[in-house]
Amino acid sequence: MFCPRCGSQSSDNTVFCAYCGTRIDGNDRKEQPTSQQQQKHPGESSATSSLVCGIIGLFVLWFVLSIVAIVQGNKAKKLGYTGGTATAGTILGWIGVVLGIIGTVYSFILLAAMSAEGWL
Ligand SMILES: [Zn+2]
Repeated sequence: MFCPRCGSQSSDNTVFCAYCGTRIDGNDRKEQPTSQQQQKHPGESSATSSLVCGIIGLFVLWFVLSIVAIVQGNKAKKLGYTGGTATAGTILGWIGVVLGIIGTVYSFILLAAMSAEGWL
């Protein structure tokens, strides 16, 4: 093995050149940074499902999907996910819950009014 710096020959087992001290074992190249894989944040899937449930929960299955949206949104935040998806999902979830409560209350008032009027 030859030293890449001074050209002197060293034994193949030598790590450093005996003459100039240059590392010659071939391990001196910089470590290749592991390719920046688009690693999904662990909280991202929760955030996404939170948003999806939040949106759907506004239209159907109030409470059920809205609560799922809130739970998933909080889970994403607990996992350290700071994207707006989690926040949006949680907010939509709360809107769904409020709409659910209002809708239920109105239904009861309507039913009560209708029965009071003798329509039922
Ligand atoms: Zn050398």
